[in-house]
Amino acid sequence: MMRSESRPPLSATHGWFAYAVPILSVAIATVATAIMSYFFTPEPIGLLLLSAVIATAWLAGLGPALFAILLALTVFQYNIAPPANLFVWKQTFFEVNFSEAPRLVMFTIVSLIVSFVITAQSSATEALRRSRDDLQTALEGLRRTETALLKTETYLTEAQRLNQSGSFGWKVSRGEIFWSEQAFRIFGVDPATTPTLELILQCTHPDDRAAVQAMIDRALRDGGDFEHQYRLLMPDGSVKHVHAMAHATETASGTEFVGAVTDVTATREVERKLRLSESYLAESQHLSHTSSWAWDQRQKEFVYTSNEIVHLFGFEQVEESRRLKAYRDRILDEDLPSVKEATRRAFINKTDLNVTYRIRLPDGSVKHIQTVGHPVLDSEGTVIQLVGTNVDITEQHEAKEKLISAFDEIKRSQDHLQLVTDTIPILVWRARADGVPDFLNKQALDFTGLVPGEIELDWPRAFHPHDKKDMYVKWTTIRESGKRGSLEARLRRFDGTYRWFLFEAEPLRDQTGNIVSWYGSATDIEDRKLAELSLRESERRFRDYAETASDWLWETGPDHRITRISEHINVVGLTRSHLPGITRWEVASDVEAEPEKWRRHRETLDAHWPFRDFVYGIINESGSQVYVRTSGKPVFDAEGLFIGYRGTGNDITASIRADQAEQALRKAQAELAHVTRVTMLGELTASIAHEVNQPLAAVVANAEASLRWLNRETPDLAAARRSIEWVVNDGCRASDVIRRVRALATKSDIETARLNLNQVVDEAIKLVERELIKNDVSLQTELAPSLPEILGDRVQLQQVIINLLMNAIEAMEPLTGRPRELLVRSASGDTGQLIVSVTDSGVGISAENANRLFNAFFTTKSSGLGMGLSICRSIVEAHGGRMSASSNEGPGATFQFALPIHQEDV
Ligand code: ADP
Repeated sequence: MMRSESRPPLSATHGWFAYAVPILSVAIATVATAIMSYFFTPEPIGLLLLSAVIATAWLAGLGPALFAILLALTVFQYNIAPPANLFVWKQTFFEVNFSEAPRLVMFTIVSLIVSFVITAQSSATEALRRSRDDLQTALEGLRRTETALLKTETYLTEAQRLNQSGSFGWKVSRGEIFWSEQAFRIFGVDPATTPTLELILQCTHPDDRAAVQAMIDRALRDGGDFEHQYRLLMPDGSVKHVHAMAHATETASGTEFVGAVTDVTATREVERKLRLSESYLAESQHLSHTSSWAWDQRQKEFVYTSNEIVHLFGFEQVEESRRLKAYRDRILDEDLPSVKEATRRAFINKTDLNVTYRIRLPDGSVKHIQTVGHPVLDSEGTVIQLVGTNVDITEQHEAKEKLISAFDEIKRSQDHLQLVTDTIPILVWRARADGVPDFLNKQALDFTGLVPGEIELDWPRAFHPHDKKDMYVKWTTIRESGKRGSLEARLRRFDGTYRWFLFEAEPLRDQTGNIVSWYGSATDIEDRKLAELSLRESERRFRDYAETASDWLWETGPDHRITRISEHINVVGLTRSHLPGITRWEVASDVEAEPEKWRRHRETLDAHWPFRDFVYGIINESGSQVYVRTSGKPVFDAEGLFIGYRGTGNDITASIRADQAEQALRKAQAELAHVTRVTMLGELTASIAHEVNQPLAAVVANAEASLRWLNRETPDLAAARRSIEWVVNDGCRASDVIRRVRALATKSDIETARLNLNQVVDEAIKLVERELIKNDVSLQTELAPSLPEILGDRVQLQQVIINLLMNAIEAMEPLTGRPRELLVRSASGDTGQLIVSVTDSGVGISAENANRLFNAFFTTKSSGLGMGLSICRSIVEAHGGRMSASSNEGPGATFQFALPIHQEDV
């Protein structure tokens, strides 16, 4: 800020210097006078001293000027006194020369006048300067005030805006209303609008308009201060709460109101919320049985108690809750001293109060109360108030009591549990979260022979060396899973024997879910384990049986689809992994060919009956026909529900093929028998002729005899009848013979074809293979290779060879001491014939029988027909060959036949 620089009088600033001025000025004047008087005449002393006085008056003011006059007079006097030299000592200085008096007086008067004038002039100038400075200062102050005012107005406007309050003025007589900018904003009116009472009413909420009107009327009528709250209805439909207050001033122009209008909507809302939260607080205090209070130490009474306190202490009214005695009356006598002591300590130590005690309510019930208080100190550190709460902790107290008794109960249970743990026939153990064991019950200690101090190290060592690794891996897995788990291992007993145990572990977790330890049991499963082993052994045994008795094992589900099948199914050329999910009839190859068989099989399956030796065909994966025989048993679960079949399967392809071969053989044999029968016809012809001839001869003889009996003079009818009856019998006999022959002759004639005789021999040998084995005969063949073909009937020639082989086998049947050896040979004969011989080591041919062997009906066997060799010879001869028999050099006989080679091959 600029300050005007005014020169203050020297006397005002430097008192002593002001008086130096006259001394100096007069001295200067004196020196000047002396100098002047020395050089000039008349003497100028008067003027110079006057100048000194003027100078002093101007520079130093009136006081110093008067002092200058005094000094000047002295100098003047000294100057006047002779000699006329100022700078010599004058004895006559004080000798006044009255003639000089007028000069001195004159000088004094002039000096005084001049001094006064100059001082006055100087003072006036000084006063003027000061006035100017003051004016300037005042102007600056004004400017500052203006700026401040401007700022204040800005602040005010801003403040009004911020606190939602506007100001207004109302000159009643002129009906003029002034609104601040914020007032316009509160009313939601354009600031360009001129505010009127009508406008105010218009903005007012319809419900409050009457009240506002009444207030205006009262203000107009009484002219006093007013204050009221009402609502505004804003153009957007919202409602604003405003609070208006005005101060009335009486002016020359009548009553004038100046006031403020504040938007209290937010405040109202806050109030509402406050009221709400107060009610919540009261409610929560009520619900939590908590009350609050404030004790004033100086007034020695409660200055505040919440409503709940009345309820808590069973007071009849709030006033009662303000008196200390009322509380003391409620507190049980035995608890009162401790309450008093706790309170005393809180005041003395200036510490929080926390005390629990019991009170007895008027209805006789007892409540447990916890009182907590906090001391409030004044600036000097004196406790002036204690504020706090009372909480009804009756329920907590009861809960605590129950908890304590529950703890007691738990303790008892624990003891009981310990007893149980130590007496149950199970080993109980506990391990830390890291898996290290730290507890074993008595049973476990007794079993292993350990003492508590050895558990950590020796419990793991008590496991069987073979089980340790597996046990460690499983135990780690269980712990890592954090879930209940079990494992089986052998544990060493104190006597060094091992027994199988089932170890089960369960984690114990804390509240945050962390595993704090593992609890576990170990159950002796030695017996079970042994049973299990024997069961496994038995299962293995039965599996062996099953696998020996069958090629593979299978299982099907309730839908008869394969669920399991052993890998031996590959014996029939099927892949095991392809079969599950497939039914039997989906792999079978004969479902269409044998519908009835399959229908019956599926009926059996659907009825859940067992089945045995069901045979069916399969085309296997390599496309070959195979045959399977299977047997199955239905399986039911514990509730008797059918769950499928279990069974075995066998590859019977070979035996089926053998059967088929056998059937072929049987067929061949049947055909052979037939041929034999036919061939026999030729042989039988003679005997038939004989047989038929004989009855025919008898018929003729008897018929002739009968004629004779009738032709007699006296016919002998009885004899004739007898003869005729014989005729009939003989006829019947002949007819029987014929019928038998006809029955034998139903097969067609022989068919000849080109034949490989070796092949015929081979086929015949195959047909008697069974007989050879049965009779323990060793067969040797020497068949000449690349024999030419013959022309003949395959079946008849087979019949010949079979007959020879069978005869040889039968001839060796009685042998006991030597081997039964049979040799079949084929060879080319010398004369374009092929020779087949059958040599045995049998009984041989006796000389007497040698010529009869080929006769029909010659036999040495009890059940023999004696037709074989004769038929053979007939067949051979029918083929253009011949047949012979001879005794061997050694034991046995040789039968052979020769057949002509087919002419084209000769
Ligand atoms: P059967 O065999 O019914 O007796 P065969 O005509 O086949 O009729 O045989 C006639 C007889 O020839 C036989 O009873 C037997 O005494 C004799 N015989 C046949 N083959 C031999 C043989 N290999 N060794 C010794 N005797 C034989």
